[in-house]
Amino acid sequence: MNANAKSILIIGGGIAGITAAVDAAEVGYQVILVEKEAYLGGRVMQMHRYFPKMCPPTCGFEINVRRIKQNPRITVHTLASVEEISGEPGNFKAKVKIDPRYVTGVHAIDDSIAEQLQSERPNDFNYAMENTKALYLPHDMAYPPMYVLDREILSDTDVERLKHICPADTIDMEMMAKTLEIEVGSVIIATGWKPYDTTNLDSLGGGQFQNVISNVMLERLIAPGGPTQGKIVRSSDDQKPGNIAFVQCAGSRDENHLAYCSAVCCMASLKHVRYIREQYESAKITVFYIDIRTIGREEKFYYDLLEDENVSFIKGKVAKINEDASTKNLILDVEDTVSGETLHQNFDMVVLATGMVPNGIDFELPIDLPVDDYGFLIGEASAEGIYSVGCAKRPCDVSRSTKDSTAAALKAIQQLNRGD
Ligand SMILES: Cc1cc2nc3c(=O)[nH]c(=O)nc-3n(C[C@H](O)[C@H](O)[C@H](O)COP(=O)(O)OP(=O)(O)OC[C@H]3O[C@@H](n4cnc5c(N)ncnc54)[C@H](O)[C@@H]3O)c2cc1C
Repeated sequence: MNANAKSILIIGGGIAGITAAVDAAEVGYQVILVEKEAYLGGRVMQMHRYFPKMCPPTCGFEINVRRIKQNPRITVHTLASVEEISGEPGNFKAKVKIDPRYVTGVHAIDDSIAEQLQSERPNDFNYAMENTKALYLPHDMAYPPMYVLDREILSDTDVERLKHICPADTIDMEMMAKTLEIEVGSVIIATGWKPYDTTNLDSLGGGQFQNVISNVMLERLIAPGGPTQGKIVRSSDDQKPGNIAFVQCAGSRDENHLAYCSAVCCMASLKHVRYIREQYESAKITVFYIDIRTIGREEKFYYDLLEDENVSFIKGKVAKINEDASTKNLILDVEDTVSGETLHQNFDMVVLATGMVPNGIDFELPIDLPVDDYGFLIGEASAEGIYSVGCAKRPCDVSRSTKDSTAAALKAIQQLNRGD
């Protein structure tokens, strides 16, 4: 190891960023991990379980948190973003802005304090299907395990209330953003993805009909920490849905929306079908698809469900979803491409399997890092010293994201050692 080597800056603390961080730090390199949210873990933390093993995200996450905590070479900044990077490979300068959390961490806070506030904000972790108090723990497994105060929405009454109910140095309402200037030798970009906005899908009732939800929302509905404490129910009447439709490629492989395949949506829906079948033994499920894309050993995930008499697969693109105003049921117009029939089928609930959109980077790089037509960064070696991983690079699953990260950690280390 080069004793003079500079640190590695990793932007994005999802599974890809975390993996690169622990891999590089555990072979002796200094890492600065910058995450814009108040917690590490990214989108995987919002899953109920993840394929192929169907374990809860907490399994792998707990191990990673232990590795981070035990390793003094990793510095984590949450609520942080990179404002600027300048310099050249092996010798970059970066400005990292850390937003105030307003919670000092000196004394423990718990929900009994938060519950006394009136100001509320949408719970982003649960895709705004419910609100949280302005003082909130982002989720049960949040790391760092610290509350955050949304100072901007706090009413004057709540400001006074907090002053009375919290020990004096628990909350610092005057906490300011700070900017750090750091020197690093390599940069790994792991900024990940966001779900495609369903309100763009007018013909499928996205954002219009209460019982049309997206795949990521379903992950939160089934999660014990979700808005319904793990019950899959219709938002219109809190009733359990008896028959549910999945619309695959909702806005994907479509020039008007996302022209590409997001690679995981078929597997995600097959996982969701299993969730529903476990919770409601009698539920009937229909999956409308163009092609089912599962690869390698994952095909078994699909073939097993073909045996299930409560699950039907219909090859056909859903053209239109209408709502029955009195029942809030959904009527789907679909052309069955195998039989040639036009179907009009009625469902209690519809899940739109939407794809992944790159978060993109919102800072200038000193090096031209090309992006493809959709905003994904191209290739890990597209620029010396700056490497992209995981869903910042293309839509992919966790296993592919982590493989990228280990490879990028090695490339970042090689860059630090060039010129010895
Ligand atoms: C419905 C659905 C279900 C899925 N289920 C599974 C599954 O069961 N199994 C599986 O293997 N895969 C699954 N996936 C895919 C999985 O979510 C991705 O593989 C994984 O999230 C990729 O991790 P990542 O770290 O690249 O990105 P992310 O998880 O998006 O993490 C990126 C991190 O970067 C942060 N960030 C973004 N921009 C910035 C910035 N400018 N500065 C600092 N930080 C920033 C974000 O806040 C986030 O924490 C699913 C995907 C979908 C759509």
